[in-house]
Amino acid sequence: MAKYGLIGGKLGHSLSPAIHKLFFQYTGKEGTYGLLERDVEALPELMQKLRSEYKGCNVTIPHKLHVMPLLDKIAPEAAAIGAVNTIKFTEQGAFGYNTDYFGFGRMLAYNSITVKGKVAAVLGTGGAARAVVKYLADQGVAKLYLVTRDIAKVDTRFAEMAPMAEVIDYTALGKLQGDVLVNCTPVGMFPKVDASPVPASVSAEFDASVDLIYNPAKTLFLQQAEAAGHKAVNGLFMLVAQAVAAQEIWQDESYASDLIVRIMTALEQEQ
Ligand code: NAP
Repeated sequence: MAKYGLIGGKLGHSLSPAIHKLFFQYTGKEGTYGLLERDVEALPELMQKLRSEYKGCNVTIPHKLHVMPLLDKIAPEAAAIGAVNTIKFTEQGAFGYNTDYFGFGRMLAYNSITVKGKVAAVLGTGGAARAVVKYLADQGVAKLYLVTRDIAKVDTRFAEMAPMAEVIDYTALGKLQGDVLVNCTPVGMFPKVDASPVPASVSAEFDASVDLIYNPAKTLFLQQAEAAGHKAVNGLFMLVAQAVAAQEIWQDESYASDLIVRIMTALEQEQ
């Protein structure tokens, strides 16, 4: 049976095994998906083993950068983002991809949020923000505000990925209006659910708010958007969509959004 897995540091609470199990169940594909908790020093040896025994794997914190030098080829979006979260093993070698990029895009499309020619603001400048910013830039967003607590510390790669991006602080964000506001910070995540990265007055100035957080399903950030009568989307669709995008790479097949929704629904019922 084909073997797949997730490489990461601490994986105790990962939803990935459940998502991939549902994928196998609903598509009839055969496979196992296990957790591969490793320190960075153990990665070269692990990769040798995976190359001979595995068909594919996902990669999460803190190894999305560490695996890159161990691969034979990296897809353009993953190279630009500077992070790999999916690896496909073939006889030709180990190939790296970033499916957070595709998962985010599919989430916007599914929720009819268009960004071409629009004004977007992205909160936070970590790994998730890099995939989001690259996607927004590739889709032709007109203006992109990258919002940080400390402008001096922002990675210079953002400017390369998104020449239209302007790095601002939260005070400057308070004076802006726009179309899409994306939370790429962990603020509001369980158990600290009483926090939002921005006040309600900011949420009111954007037509749609997207939170990458999926626990809780409705963060305070999203409650603020809904209270202002605006669209609010949580990160569960993205989480499942990035897993399905990985399966599309491994299986070399395409899957409809119905499958993502079916997996999401099953996960919500399990929780
Ligand atoms: P991260 O690197 O730990 O943090 C992201 C950024 O958030 C930081 O670089 C920081 O930017 C800002 N930040 C951190 N703590 C903050 C605080 N207390 N107040 C304000 N800003 C703060 O995390 P990540 O890996 O990018 O992930 C971000 C979030 O997205 C997490 O909640 C993660 O679970 C979620 N995520 C979801 C999906 C999905 O599929 N739905 C995928 C990836 C990530 P500045 O220092 O510039 O302010």
